[in-house]
Amino acid sequence: MPERIYNFSPGPATLPFSVLEEAARDIVNFKDRGIGLIELSHRSKEFMAVADETESLIRELLDVPANYKVLFLQGGASSQFFMIPMNLLGPGKKATYLNTGVWSKKAIKEAENFGDITVAYSSADVSFNRVPEDTEYTVSPDSEYLYLVSNNTIYGTQFSSFPQKDAMLVCDMSSDILSRPLDISKFGIIFAGAQKNMGPAGVTVVIIREDLLDKVAENVPTMLKYKTHADKGSMFNTPPTFAIYCVGRVMHWLKNQGGVAAMQRINEEKAALIYKIIDSGDFYRGHAEKTSRSMMNIAFNLPTPELEAQFINEAAAIGLDGLKGHRSIGGCRASIYNAFPIEGVKKLVDFMARFSADNS
Ligand SMILES: *Cc1c(COP(=O)(O)O)cnc(C)c1O
Repeated sequence: MPERIYNFSPGPATLPFSVLEEAARDIVNFKDRGIGLIELSHRSKEFMAVADETESLIRELLDVPANYKVLFLQGGASSQFFMIPMNLLGPGKKATYLNTGVWSKKAIKEAENFGDITVAYSSADVSFNRVPEDTEYTVSPDSEYLYLVSNNTIYGTQFSSFPQKDAMLVCDMSSDILSRPLDISKFGIIFAGAQKNMGPAGVTVVIIREDLLDKVAENVPTMLKYKTHADKGSMFNTPPTFAIYCVGRVMHWLKNQGGVAAMQRINEEKAALIYKIIDSGDFYRGHAEKTSRSMMNIAFNLPTPELEAQFINEAAAIGLDGLKGHRSIGGCRASIYNAFPIEGVKKLVDFMARFSADNS
């Protein structure tokens, strides 16, 4: 096998190598039972044990209170953009949204089909380079919830703390779930596509407060009611068994790293290394305002688009892959989720120092 490259892709993203190896083995021969993991019935006791373990590890790592359900759904994080308002809103019902980038914009568009939506804050006019302080907006009265994206994957901005407002929070944590400890009780719904910080594409984890399950209108399609999936332990229909298994193995790995508090320290250390070189001169310019900087995705520019292209190519040639920025803002982006090793960050920082010295 060739040497493993450092994969800075925003998602699907790098996974712990030990998990890939386990998965490769279990796909062929699950726990020496003479059957492959992806051939197992989702109702077999073997797979039920896998799903139960995945759920209990998520509960343990995130300290999920007993009055919350953990669901494994399909349709990607993007399906939550309509499922949330479809379940929680309806004619005359209100919600407040914070517009901090592409993913919140898409969520707002869907929500407008199901309720009366107030966009209380937008950083569109500053190319989404920041997230708001609590003092910069108000939650509109009678809002069922306040919606936010905790980490803006494309722009590299992140809420360093969550809003302290008199409102139930609903949060898209697709690109930073499990990167730091949380007080789940502030949230009505948390959701995340697995493919950034939890596993492969194919499953979306939804953590939902139980009392919200009954808010849904009768005429919402069965598959789109959270209650349907909650009542059946995410086994109303066939769940994405392979993805759930992988998330379980990643949770196991995360627990061995010391859990989310330990992971937060490592993530801060990794991000600080890159921000330090960005701040060391004029060659690199970070996209995000300093107080809004993300620990997960670091978006930056070089003096010219030509130098950016050269940077991305030269980096790829030495095994630093996936550094191209999102098409909506260009430039470069280093995505350094939980599973991204600090050795790769150090290699990138060394390369950045060399590249700026050679091209200034
Ligand atoms: C990637 C991403 C999404 C979209 O996820 P899909 O699973 O592709 O629908 C939504 N929100 C955020 C914050 C993301 O990073």
